[in-house]
Amino acid sequence: SNSKVILNAEEISRTMERLAMEINERHGDCKEVAILGIQRRGVDLAARLRAALEKRLGQAIPSGLLDINLYRDDWTTLDVQPQINKTEILFDIDGKEIILVDDVLFTGRTIRAALEAILDFGRPRQVELMVLVDRGHRELPIQADYVGKTVETRRGEHVDVYLDERDGREMVCLVE
Ligand code: 5GP
Ligand code: MG
Repeated sequence: SNSKVILNAEEISRTMERLAMEINERHGDCKEVAILGIQRRGVDLAARLRAALEKRLGQAIPSGLLDINLYRDDWTTLDVQPQINKTEILFDIDGKEIILVDDVLFTGRTIRAALEAILDFGRPRQVELMVLVDRGHRELPIQADYVGKTVETRRGEHVDVYLDERDGREMVCLVE
């Protein structure tokens, strides 16, 4: 299969800095901001975003994670719903401005499941979504507020996200 690099290591790094800046611009001092990453690479990206924001602001940003199990054996099999395995939120989410973080946004079903889990947990003032890649093909009315890169894909294509801390290399590829 044919693979094309759509973000290299430097571009990923610059993209994460830009997204942190956008969040900083919209949320000012970020006093109520908290970050929730979706397993697995959303958690890695959430940690990077948190570090970038904490560095900019000089203050701690609460964070947690959502573990969502995709009962799918194929990205193109869309009749099965993603389910939440575990939610680890060790701060009070009531009144918070939550930034939900994932690597790739596709049909929107994972985010729908994540929202349900978050709202079971408490009552945030706002929930926004940050993704590294939006690859289109939404099946629900869900959009990201902060997007690293929008990539036109075919349904059967796949975006491979490699992150240093997990994969030992750093790039995003589109695989035909
Ligand atoms: P959705 O639920 O929006 O259909 O799919 C998004 C979730 O599935 C994300 O958690 C993402 O990690 C994963 N996903 C969907 N499509 C892709 C893809 O092309 N590449 C990667 N790396 N993950 C994908
Ligand atoms: Mg995922």
